Amino acid sequence: MGSSPTPSVSLFFNKMIEVKNLYKYYGEDPAVRGISFNVEKGEILGFLGPNGAGKTTTLRVITGFLYPTKGEVFIDGKNVLEEPLYCKKKLGYLPEDNPLYTDLTPREYLSFCAEARGIEDAQKKMEEVIEKTQIAEVWEKPIGELSKGYRQRVGIAQALLHDPEILILDEPTTGLDPVQIIEIRNLIKELSKEKTILLSTHILPEVQMLATRVIIIHRGVIRAEGTPEELSKKFKAKEISFALKGDENKIRERLEKADFVSSFELMSKEDAVYGKFLPKENGDPREKFAKFAYENGFLILELYSKSLGLEEVFIELTKEEQK
Ligand code: ATP
Repeated sequence: MGSSPTPSVSLFFNKMIEVKNLYKYYGEDPAVRGISFNVEKGEILGFLGPNGAGKTTTLRVITGFLYPTKGEVFIDGKNVLEEPLYCKKKLGYLPEDNPLYTDLTPREYLSFCAEARGIEDAQKKMEEVIEKTQIAEVWEKPIGELSKGYRQRVGIAQALLHDPEILILDEPTTGLDPVQIIEIRNLIKELSKEKTILLSTHILPEVQMLATRVIIIHRGVIRAEGTPEELSKKFKAKEISFALKGDENKIRERLEKADFVSSFELMSKEDAVYGKFLPKENGDPREKFAKFAYENGFLILELYSKSLGLEEVFIELTKEEQK
């Protein structure tokens, strides 16, 4: 057997984006507080968080539009601050507010972008992105007269123009109508066949539909990370539902004192007091609860742990924000 050829370094290198211990302050206010994560080649990473979580700030640092206060970002192994041109070639960016020149037509706008980026085979590249983003029919219309869905397409065409390996999309479906949302999501899905995608959104179904992996960010900190299935599993047994025979006030009073209960809800029905609680620690606290019920003289009628769906995990992790 002949020896196999030495593989190139890039075969070993799958981290297209590497964010290391990133901090960003605006004056005294921390927007991002020590986050680290990777985006692997070929994945769609959903960057999920409520408004103000720090998503846009993180994306701006990754794309080199903002300096980090502390920490580093690498694109395909190169530091964004040290090798900005290399990194910009690798990245296509659709900013949140998609700043388009409304007087220009898509043709004029993309020609301008191609020139600014020094793209040599501009005509060919433009034809490719027209095809990919399906904007041929609005090609000669002023951008200001286009629907929001078409504007997003033009924005994505702009991000794709230099044929980057990585696409960074900041809230790409915000402000679109339901039909446009589906069209843009389908386009993202199509693009993911050949691009690595970092998709920021606060819309959970978007992540469930598109992302292969999810990062939940809240108040500038990563609260959870994994595939949608992993996240649901991780929080399995977090929520315990029960039905007890006993006096509701007494149950409430005892639960308030129970050291393994983080928060709880109760509701009395004719036959029993129904409730659910979140334990203080990870793991399955049903044994503790059974002991608690026995010691306080409550008869257990039902007791089960519930696996939380991604939506419930998200709500749980970002609860303070929702209040
Ligand atoms: P959204 O979806 O609402 O854009 P986000 O998750 O993208 O939210 P960021 O826009 O990164 O969050 O904002 C994070 C925090 O930083 C917020 O508290 C925001 O008010 C603050 N912030 C963002 N940009 C600036 C700025 N240029 N100057 C001062 N504070 C800012």
